[in-house]
Amino acid sequence: MSVRAALAEASAQLMGAGVDSARLDARVLMGAVLGVPPASVPALSCALSAPERAQFDGWIKRRMGREPVAYILGRKEFWSLDFCVGPGVLVPRPDSETLIEAAREGFAPGYGPEIICDLGCGSGCLIITALRLWPEARGVAFDLSTTALEYTRANAQRLGVAERLETQLCDFGQAEGQFDLVLCNPPYLREDEVADAEPELGFEPKLALCAGPDGLSAYHVLGAVLQRILRPGALAVVELGMGQLAPVEQEFLAKGLEFAGARDDLSNVPRALMARRMGKKVVGIRGPRG
Ligand code: GLN
Repeated sequence: MSVRAALAEASAQLMGAGVDSARLDARVLMGAVLGVPPASVPALSCALSAPERAQFDGWIKRRMGREPVAYILGRKEFWSLDFCVGPGVLVPRPDSETLIEAAREGFAPGYGPEIICDLGCGSGCLIITALRLWPEARGVAFDLSTTALEYTRANAQRLGVAERLETQLCDFGQAEGQFDLVLCNPPYLREDEVADAEPELGFEPKLALCAGPDGLSAYHVLGAVLQRILRPGALAVVELGMGQLAPVEQEFLAKGLEFAGARDDLSNVPRALMARRMGKKVVGIRGPRG
């Protein structure tokens, strides 16, 4: 069978299974089977070998069952870095790159944090990206899930920051330490949002997504934790769900934190909230940054 025919058949099957991104997904999966960039796939005039066909058909079947592409491939790009992912860790989203942009803005050019932490690190995408941006910094990644910590360690190893990153198994409510920068993508979806979501979400860990009937339960814990683990004047950058800027800002102010701005994602949704612990602003350590 030709690549072109296999692609057309797979796109139709995925469309029939209700996948919105049917053509793109077929192309991405075919690219991965053939080891070529997805954009080059439609122009290929070759035939698929029997093993290539079997692998492609198997992957299309999984995608028809609405498994996320990132889990099928076992990887996902974040901030132009390649992260290993799989069941048990949230798939990194482009929206979360907003937190990295916000964190960079929090330090003057030529300066960076000395010690960073990630509360609920999942795949490790936030803290590992931050450690790549600030090569002088050290980090601590907290997660309640051993699977998440295994992915974080493996990704840190692959991306060359393992010797600067410690991992700790604990609920982020119990996190200890003193940090110049705290990153956090907490669960923030309401229970009804998760129930009504596309089937893909059902493959991802509930622990990383679901935050009670109002989606705000993690933020109630987070305010007090930040007040405890931020050095005076230090910065926290926290991901927000849709419409959560006002309630989270209020929650953090009530815990004595200072609101330091918000940053929109590419769909103009306020996605990253910046907060500081009161005190003299941390300038950070001198060092190159990415
Ligand atoms: N942004 C994710 C989604 O909407 C949710 C991630 C989270 O709860 N932190 O699917």
